[in-house]
Amino acid sequence: MNIENLDNILKDEPRYRLKQVKEAVFRDLIDDWFQASNLPLALREKLNEECPLGIKGKISKSDDKKTVKTLIELDDGLKIESVLMRHGEGEEKRNTVCVSSQAGCPMACKFCATGEMGFKRNLTASEIIEQVLFFARTGNKISNIVFMGMGEPFLNYENVMAAVRVLNDEDGLNIGARKISISTCGVIEGIEKLADEKIQLNLAISLHAPDGALRSELMPVNKKYPLEKVLDAVDDYIKKTSRRVMFEYLLIKGVNDSPNHARRLARIMKKPLYMVNLIKYNPAGGDFLPSDTDAVERFAGILEKEGVAVTVRHRFGGEIKAACGQLAGKN
Ligand code: SF4
Repeated sequence: MNIENLDNILKDEPRYRLKQVKEAVFRDLIDDWFQASNLPLALREKLNEECPLGIKGKISKSDDKKTVKTLIELDDGLKIESVLMRHGEGEEKRNTVCVSSQAGCPMACKFCATGEMGFKRNLTASEIIEQVLFFARTGNKISNIVFMGMGEPFLNYENVMAAVRVLNDEDGLNIGARKISISTCGVIEGIEKLADEKIQLNLAISLHAPDGALRSELMPVNKKYPLEKVLDAVDDYIKKTSRRVMFEYLLIKGVNDSPNHARRLARIMKKPLYMVNLIKYNPAGGDFLPSDTDAVERFAGILEKEGVAVTVRHRFGGEIKAACGQLAGKN
């Protein structure tokens, strides 16, 4: 796909064509330009040549059908994964797509299957958008996007933001900026740039440890971007945007889930507009194990008692390796 270049492909066409073309892709969800019967045949041929719409994806579903994972094969044969999570009922119903921003990841977090596979390359904006289009074409109205799949979004900042603009565009998928979240392992330059964007996205930080020493063991990125400096960047972001920031904390048995860890975490997280999201770890094939449910409850209780805003996130798709840290480009 070459969606982000549609403006350029259509530069010699009358202006209304761009709107027609976007409607065909994002509203009618066509997967072949010949289906856009309101466009002249020659233009449809040109678009099929310069911006083909086919997406090669293979699906796996969790037992309760609430989580759907797709393995997408890119034009150069690399494989990436994306996940659709269906939550809530009735009015509260949401369909969230967790997208990848890179094929593989250079950050090498110890608990993460993507980190283990190493880094292949950044995804283009179109390759990010097509992950969402893939699920939209399966009849699911997409309400939320999270950049929490394979890769570190802020190492691919320009393409991620180009994709966000199309996803947010009212002639694109028209997904509200406040329904789009970007999660970083702490790339400070990205946090600083996001603070200056005109678009109000949500920022999430993968934290996973209450201090720099343990964080460096689990996430080598902490040596380049130490915890205290990441938190300083977050404070500056909050000063500029007045927006809440979510801190993701995977609970790994015997590693970062003791009451002492919780108390130390509370000390750095007790700030206005900070919010901690606890997630029971999903085994990714290494030595780490998920915390026991009791330990999760105890951990959340301590944070709450200390006055920290905390939620415990339901795990999605563990059995199809679709959960946080499990995406590895394999079916
Ligand atoms: S947790 Fe995120 S940043 Fe770390 S290796 Fe995995 S994909 Fe990369």
